[in-house]
Amino acid sequence: MIVSGMVKSSLIDFPGLISCVLFVPGCNYDCFYCHNRSLVDGPYEVLNPDYVTEFLKKRVGMLDGVVISGGEPTLQPDLLQFAQMIRSLGYKLKLDTNGSRPEVVKKLIEERLIDYYAVDYKAPGLDYPEVCGAGAQAEKVLETVKLLLDSNASFEVRTTVYPQLGEGELITMARELPVVPRYVLNRYRKPDKYKDCDTFRIDETPYSQAQIEALAKAMKKYQPNVRT
Ligand code: SF4
Repeated sequence: MIVSGMVKSSLIDFPGLISCVLFVPGCNYDCFYCHNRSLVDGPYEVLNPDYVTEFLKKRVGMLDGVVISGGEPTLQPDLLQFAQMIRSLGYKLKLDTNGSRPEVVKKLIEERLIDYYAVDYKAPGLDYPEVCGAGAQAEKVLETVKLLLDSNASFEVRTTVYPQLGEGELITMARELPVVPRYVLNRYRKPDKYKDCDTFRIDETPYSQAQIEALAKAMKKYQPNVRT
């Protein structure tokens, strides 16, 4: 497992738990608003695997959980073994994923390795290639969400409300998804690093928190568990 970054202690990344967040490089998407562009395009650091393992061993009893984030963790060929190692230390485990690889999530569900999943739903289905890059398919994400729902796994769906997502788009997304147990709308922040060709959409004025709350209210009819 390649780990290229770590937040040693976080109170906000794993609901209700004190967690360590591990960032893995590589992504099969190319979202224009990505905040981890160096993990997608490089160059990125590679942490010594022994350092990561020793850190986790030393923090047993001080941390409750570990979040595997990215990049896109489901691209890592040894994700299951890595998750097993973390579980064997007694940690709760959360996976952040773009939902593009339902076949990997299915294995993780079958092995009961993940305690909590966060799946991004990034755009109305038809807009996925425009927002996330050529080849990105909303159908795969919807398949992942359905797998999680059918297996009674604990999970949330998240959407970053970038400026181009209006009420109409958000309602379309709310309707495309099955009703999920928790749907979180996150505020958009301008990324530090982005492609020049995306400047026009990166620089649009972000929604205020009050505007996002109003958008969430409009989505409630289709996603009663939406929150900001
Ligand atoms: S899925 Fe996440 S890591 Fe990958 S490009 Fe999109 S925002 Fe960045």
